[in-house]
Amino acid sequence: AVRFAGVVRHFGTVRAVDGVDLAIAPGEFFAMLGPSGSGKTTCLRLIAGFEQPDAGHIAIFGESVEGLPPYRRAVNTVFQDYALFPHLCVGDNVAYGLRVRGVGRAERDTLAREALAMVKLAGMEARRPAQLSGGQRQRVALARALVVRPKVLLLDEPLGALDLKLREEMQSELKSLQRALGLTFVFVTHDQGEALSMADRVAVFNEGRIVQVGPPEQVYERPATRFVAQFVGSAN
Ligand code: ATP
Repeated sequence: AVRFAGVVRHFGTVRAVDGVDLAIAPGEFFAMLGPSGSGKTTCLRLIAGFEQPDAGHIAIFGESVEGLPPYRRAVNTVFQDYALFPHLCVGDNVAYGLRVRGVGRAERDTLAREALAMVKLAGMEARRPAQLSGGQRQRVALARALVVRPKVLLLDEPLGALDLKLREEMQSELKSLQRALGLTFVFVTHDQGEALSMADRVAVFNEGRIVQVGPPEQVYERPATRFVAQFVGSAN
C-alpha cells in the first residue's frame, strides 16, 4: 500500500528521516514506534504529502506520489489534537472533506451520517465539538477522516489525549473498524504496549531510521539491537 525507498528528510542539520525503506501491505495495521524525535511523525507527513522528501521515492498503491498534493492521495490523517473546527457542528465537521471535493449537500449529509454511525455517534450531527467528551471528539475526527473513503488511514498518536480506560476501549474499536473496512492503517505511537497489542507489524524508529521491523512478538522476543530491547522492554 505504501512504499518508501531511501527516503530522506532533513530540517537544517536535523536528520528527521535519514534513509528509510518501507513496504506496508494493503490491509495491514502498521505501527511506527519510537521515542520522541525519532522521525515517526515526519514519515507520516511524507506519506500524507504535507512534507516532500529531500531524497528517495514514495509510492502509494504502486504509483509515485511525487508532486501530488495531499488531497490527491488515497490517504487521510487523524491528528492527535483532532483539529476539529470549533465553529462547525459535528455533521459539518465530518462533511468538510466532501465539501472541499465538491460533493453536493444531500450526498454530504448522507455520507456524514453513515460515517458517524460507523464510529457509534449516530444522531450527534447537530452538536458542537465543545459539547462532546474527549472520546467523542476522537470519534468525530475518525469519522471525518473516513468519510472521504481513503485507502490508507494515517493516525498520529490518536489516543494520546485519552485516559487509560477510554484508550483501551478505542484500541479495540479502531482494530475492529480497520478489519471491517479492510483499510490500511499506519499508526504512530511512542507507547510500546499499544503498538505491540494492536499492530500486525511494528517498525521501531531511532534517530530517523528504522532499526527493526516485524510482527510484534518477533520485535518483543528477538530485539535486533540493544536499543530495541531497552525501548520495547521498558513497556513492562
Ligand atoms: P514525537 O513522538 O515527539 O512526535 P517523532 O518521532 O514523531 O517525535 P518527528 O516529529 O518526526 O519525530 O521529528 C523528528 C526530528 O525532526 C525532531 O528532531 C524534530 O525536532 C525535527 N523536526 C520535525 N519537523 C520539523 C520542522 N518542521 N522543522 C524543523 N525541525 C523539525
